[in-house]
Amino acid sequence: MCSNVCANLLAVGQTERSAGGAGTGTGPGARGGRIGTDDRPDGSQRGVALLRRVLAGSGVDPDRAETTWLGPGGVAPAVPGPGSGTEPGRDTGEPGAAIPEAAEPEVVSPEDPLRHVARIPSRPGRTADWPGWTPEELRTAWVDRGIARLWSHQAEGAGLVRSGADVVVATGTASGKSLIYQLPVLTGLVEDPRATALYLAPTKALAADQLRALDGVAPDGVRPAAFDGDTPMEERDWIRRHCRWMFSNPDMLHRSLLPRHGRWSTFLRRLRYVVIDECHTYRGVFGSHVALLLRRLLRVAARYGARPTIVLASATVAKPAEFASRLTGRDVVAVTDDGSPHAGRTVAFWEPPLLTEITGDNGAPVRRSAGAETSRMLADLVLERARTLAFVRSRRAAELTALGARRELADVDPDLVERVAAYRGGYLPEERRALEGALMSGELLGVATTNALELGVDISGLDAVVLAGFPGTRASFWQQAGRAGRSADEALVVLVARDDPLDTYLVHHPRTLLGAPVETCVLNPVNPYVLAPQLACAAAELPLTADDVEDVFGGAPAVEVLDALVDEGVLRRRPHGWFWPDTGDAPAAQVDIRGSGLGQVAIVEAATGRMLGTVDGGSAPGTVHPGAVHLHRGESYVVDELDLDGGIALVHEEEPDWRTEAQSVSDVTVLATTASRRHGPVQVCFGETTVTSQVVAYRRRTADGTVLDQTPLDLPPQSLDTRSVWYTIDPDALAAAGIDDARLPGALHAAEHAAIGLLPLFAICDRWDIGGLSTALHPDTGLPTVFVHDGHPGGAGLAERGHAVLARWLVATRAAVRDCECRTGCPSCVQSPKCGNGNNPLDKAGAVQVLDLVLGALAESGDPEARAAVPAGR
Ligand SMILES: [Zn+2]
Ligand SMILES: [Zn+2]
Repeated sequence: MCSNVCANLLAVGQTERSAGGAGTGTGPGARGGRIGTDDRPDGSQRGVALLRRVLAGSGVDPDRAETTWLGPGGVAPAVPGPGSGTEPGRDTGEPGAAIPEAAEPEVVSPEDPLRHVARIPSRPGRTADWPGWTPEELRTAWVDRGIARLWSHQAEGAGLVRSGADVVVATGTASGKSLIYQLPVLTGLVEDPRATALYLAPTKALAADQLRALDGVAPDGVRPAAFDGDTPMEERDWIRRHCRWMFSNPDMLHRSLLPRHGRWSTFLRRLRYVVIDECHTYRGVFGSHVALLLRRLLRVAARYGARPTIVLASATVAKPAEFASRLTGRDVVAVTDDGSPHAGRTVAFWEPPLLTEITGDNGAPVRRSAGAETSRMLADLVLERARTLAFVRSRRAAELTALGARRELADVDPDLVERVAAYRGGYLPEERRALEGALMSGELLGVATTNALELGVDISGLDAVVLAGFPGTRASFWQQAGRAGRSADEALVVLVARDDPLDTYLVHHPRTLLGAPVETCVLNPVNPYVLAPQLACAAAELPLTADDVEDVFGGAPAVEVLDALVDEGVLRRRPHGWFWPDTGDAPAAQVDIRGSGLGQVAIVEAATGRMLGTVDGGSAPGTVHPGAVHLHRGESYVVDELDLDGGIALVHEEEPDWRTEAQSVSDVTVLATTASRRHGPVQVCFGETTVTSQVVAYRRRTADGTVLDQTPLDLPPQSLDTRSVWYTIDPDALAAAGIDDARLPGALHAAEHAAIGLLPLFAICDRWDIGGLSTALHPDTGLPTVFVHDGHPGGAGLAERGHAVLARWLVATRAAVRDCECRTGCPSCVQSPKCGNGNNPLDKAGAVQVLDLVLGALAESGDPEARAAVPAGR
């Protein structure tokens, strides 16, 4: 019976939609009891009821919905606990609720796709009064908009900003973060009628949204305005003279404002606040550029006598204060205790079962596809009259998912066919609004959409969300999951794992997703490939003094880069510092802060000359080689020609029945070892490396995995100076662990693939931003070695993060490999879609042995994370 749902509630520190004080939403009205013969469950059990339906539709006993609860038979503690440990995720001092690993239940048989269910109870909001310093006109304006009181974190954050602290707010999706900067900034602008503020967003669209949010709130004299690439020249003059709160982006700061700072001297002299929204997007190479760009801004502002307070808003990530400090170069205080309310949800972790009849690469088993599972769930949920969103990878997948659901419905309840649609990009605004309106009203029940943020932000309060694959970060997961659930009516969220080691890990270790965040944003502000162009820009803005270099730009690494710039004749050295030669044009126009430093290859449709987009020069040979099937924004193209010198790939639109995989040979040379530690037979290192790779061929492969043929390619080798983390293992220890010479290459290779797949768990990135190499005998180490390297010149901080969390990372890697129930390795554990060797050789059992050996050695030498993960007596 639905009525005696197990009470193993899981208290989780997760938040969601509900902007400051806003809406409660109403119940859904009667939708009819269609779940078995039970009475229709009340709102608080709606998610479980929907899950029963999904289970029944999959041929699984619906009662399983109530036997796979997480938790050790009671309410899980809401505060971080010590945990026994094979879980990553206990960076000390992190916010949120860590859930102890101890009771990860072993409940499922291999055929049962439902791995875990978590019930996240609804959480009431904690409110606070408007601070006493709030000007009456501002308070009235917000109260008129329905914000009678603040959430507790809003009051905390606004108070800190008001006190002059630099603050990063890292709370849940739509927890009302904007108010935390709006309140003190507007107050400051009211109090000092000459003061100015700068808001920076990663995209024009977000800046425009935030600007609109001030309508009816900003007092008259503030004159907020957008300053971006679309701003007409005549308006720019007005903005410079009159606007006191400018909404812009890093690109404009870099190309327009800073190079012409003299014209902005009044604005800069009075600059009191800098707001950096969605700051978790400033990571990797782009983030490294933005970090230096912000230092340029603060240095120039200081020259005019201003020292603005900085407010940053971030998705929930691990260690937000540390990241924000690295981004801004200032000490930043974090606000993480989210006081906003959220709706209750049942979250199901689903792993499509293995198919017995087909095999993939090297005889690997194949799972039922995440897309097919999602399509069926969508149909089942629509049959329950549940308003459901399904998030999939591409536009084509959205079409196929909707089509599949409609087909299923046609057999069961033809009236419902028209109530399922695909939401693709490219709609006109009014079409889009009509579709969104139909979903909100219930006229449409099921919509399949890509996980790009194409959907209006107003879509929320739905009954169910199905995610076909983990969207890459916790922030996006909760953004998508957050579309379901209203305060009164509990909702269902299903994460369907795709063939990927990270997805496998997450559905087996759901606490990673539900507990405290483990992923951090990484960037590397001393990357010489970023420092060089940024220092040139800075010198062109104002000559660089020795103090600037030491205090602002990171000291020694910057001096080294400056010396090289002087040698190349880019800058001049004079007694007082480094100068940009008067004759040279300002360098900012030539510096692409969103590029990798390797140049870009433009993807151009040959027939029309239309430019579709760009790919990074470094990855072009692997992704847009002649013959490659290239997906771009959900559309499929085939590459006709790649001109690396000219930076152009010519393509035509085509969706063949195969995909392509580049085959490459590569090599890693160690240039310098920055850190090195021996743990018995294992040595762990981090340092500078050169990675040389050459794409030599590509394979065509059908959807079911069959290789059609292999075509040789003639492309030049590419070399990449970047940073790597690597470990070596003494051959004797490997032999003693039962890995003989014949198995060694496959074991190391499999361990390398899985580790690359799991690194995004600890550092927000895509597995495509990372590469690796494993070898039974490396010329520089003289030993069996596994390398994992940053995919960008100079390193973006990924290998560095891997080195810092090595034990936790390898513990998770081992769990992902071990938990996959395939016998000899599959795409869910050790096979990689980007392997240059066609996933050959791979030894899954050997990978577990290698990781056991490495973790055993780390534990032996006292590493607590490894110790917790290695069974006693090993
Ligand atoms: Zn597997
Ligand atoms: Zn490989």
